[in-house]
Amino acid sequence: MNEIQQTAPAEPAGAPIELVGLSRDELTAVLVSLGEKPFRTKQLWHWIYHQGETDFAKMTTLSKAFRDVLAARCTVGRPGIVTEQNSADGTRKWLFRMPDGNQVETVHIPEDDRGAVCISTQVGCTMTCRFCHTGTQALVRNLSAAEIVGQFMAARDSYGEWPTPTDETRHLSNVVLMGMGEPLLNYDAVVKAMRILMDPEGIAMSKRRITISTSGYIPNMRRCAEDLGIKLAVSFHAPTDEVRESIMPINRKYPIKDLMAAMKEYQEIAGQRQYITIEYILLKGVNDSLDDARELVRLFDASGIGVKFNLIPFNPWPGSPYETPAVKSCQAFAEVLANAGYAAPIRVPRGRDILAACGQLRSASEKQRLSRMRARIAAGIDDDAHVLPENS
Ligand code: SF4
Repeated sequence: MNEIQQTAPAEPAGAPIELVGLSRDELTAVLVSLGEKPFRTKQLWHWIYHQGETDFAKMTTLSKAFRDVLAARCTVGRPGIVTEQNSADGTRKWLFRMPDGNQVETVHIPEDDRGAVCISTQVGCTMTCRFCHTGTQALVRNLSAAEIVGQFMAARDSYGEWPTPTDETRHLSNVVLMGMGEPLLNYDAVVKAMRILMDPEGIAMSKRRITISTSGYIPNMRRCAEDLGIKLAVSFHAPTDEVRESIMPINRKYPIKDLMAAMKEYQEIAGQRQYITIEYILLKGVNDSLDDARELVRLFDASGIGVKFNLIPFNPWPGSPYETPAVKSCQAFAEVLANAGYAAPIRVPRGRDILAACGQLRSASEKQRLSRMRARIAAGIDDDAHVLPENS
């Protein structure tokens, strides 16, 4: 579990300067380097993040001469869309291509009058949680702040939700960092990206509407509470170290006792009223017994941490080693938690038909990529640096 901080390769000299993903200070430095006054930052920020404008020619509050300079030297980009799929239940999934060719998936899960955008923070993942298909795909690299923010902006483009609506009228109302990757292992880029999303003069996303989901990378939990104070979800998935270790290798380094202490600290810093979501994937015969549910109650009753549960019946993927429990046993599990006073809804899987449900991300795209790679190798065409996984 190395703390990989490698992001996208640097742009070649002379390439346009990507303005998305720069902090305000960095944007000011770019403007000054182009001979503009620092106060123009506010106007440009408004165009990029409030209006969602990508064409400098349309940024009419800026002088014509400055717009020409910007058009010649800079860009306001988005990740390229490889595919866009719509589920029968309204879930929309994009496969985005980053400038270096790497691909990630982003999902929008709509509710009646709102919806959450599930964003990826890494290409692949190093955590190898056994129930997660993303975890079978080796970590390639961290995403940059531009690539993280860009996923949300491209999702908004897709729904035409510009300029930034009021909170009450947003369809893309929430952000969950639950896509590919462990966000706390790409800490600097995630913090920078979330600060951009939360900036009140741009996308203006409230911190109450952003949730970071971690598998339990404790070293950055406290920092995250201090730096962002956004909502926390923890991939918990087992009430004992023995079971958790068998499905989440991270537990060997950061066992449940330490994780609980880190959660308590997070809540103390971010605010007691902010409940922590305990993500719990129900795996048949592994962690779904009534004894497991009772053990969870005992654990959290004793902890003093305000939590609510999110129960997720396992979403199968090709070759997965687990099975989905019967509906009745999921309900019985939920009842034990509910009777003890915990909110414990069973999440209805969304976007299963397009492999957009929890733990399924990049399944199809990775499969396609591997079969293309096989075809190139079979044809004797040199492949890129990718190597076929042993079990593919
Ligand atoms: S559940 Fe999250 S942390 Fe675990 S392997 Fe999947 S993407 Fe990585």
